[in-house]
Amino acid sequence: MVSTKELFDILLEEFGPQNWWPGDSDFEIMVGAILTQNVNWSNVEKALDNMKKADSLNLEAVCEMEDEQLEALVRPTGFYRQKAARLKRLSRVILEKGGIKYFLKEDDLRELLLDVKGIGPETADSIALYAARIPTFVVDAYTKRIVERFYGYRGNYDDIKDFFQNSLPKDVDIYNEYHALLVKLGKTYCKKTDPRCGECPISYHCSY
Ligand code: SF4
Repeated sequence: MVSTKELFDILLEEFGPQNWWPGDSDFEIMVGAILTQNVNWSNVEKALDNMKKADSLNLEAVCEMEDEQLEALVRPTGFYRQKAARLKRLSRVILEKGGIKYFLKEDDLRELLLDVKGIGPETADSIALYAARIPTFVVDAYTKRIVERFYGYRGNYDDIKDFFQNSLPKDVDIYNEYHALLVKLGKTYCKKTDPRCGECPISYHCSY
C-alpha cells in the first residue's frame, strides 16, 4: 500500500499542478467556498460573475446590499436564499473583526468560521487553507470516496482529516494541491457510479 505522500506524488505527476483556489482576492475565495456547497463550480462562476458585474464582490457591498439583491446575484448556485444569508452573516463577522486582513489572522479562525450558521467543516477548512494559508486538510465527498475505495478506510470528517494530516508533512502547499488533485481524480476516474478503474492512474495500488 502506498503512503499518502506517495499517492500525492503519483497524482501530481499524472495531473500536474491544479492552481487552486481560483479567485482574484481572499474575499472571492471565501464567497466561492460558500457558494460551491452542493453545486458544480460552473454555477459558482456564474454567480461570481454576476457579483463582479454588479460591483458587489467585496465585503462592504455584501454587508450593505438588500437581501433580495444578493439572492438574485447568487441564484445560479441553488439554495440561493440560504447561501445569500450565509454570505451576509460571514461578511458581518469579518467586518466586526476589522476586515478581511485581520479576520484571516485570527488565531481561532477555524472556530470563528464554524460559529457562523451554515458554515460546516469543509467550507471552514477551505477558507482557512486557501484564503488564510493555514495548514488544515480539506475533506469533501471526493476525498471520502477515494479514501474508502483506495485505502479501504472509512470515517467521519475528522477521522479522514486526521488520516491525511497525521501522515503528511504539515505543509500548506501540499494540502492545497492534494485536495485539488483528489477532486480531479474523483471527477475524472473515481466517479460515484461506474468508476473508470481500467484507465485510473492509481489502479495498480488501489484496494477497491
Ligand atoms: S482504481 Fe477505481 S476505485 Fe481505485 S481510485 Fe481508481 S477509479 Fe477509484
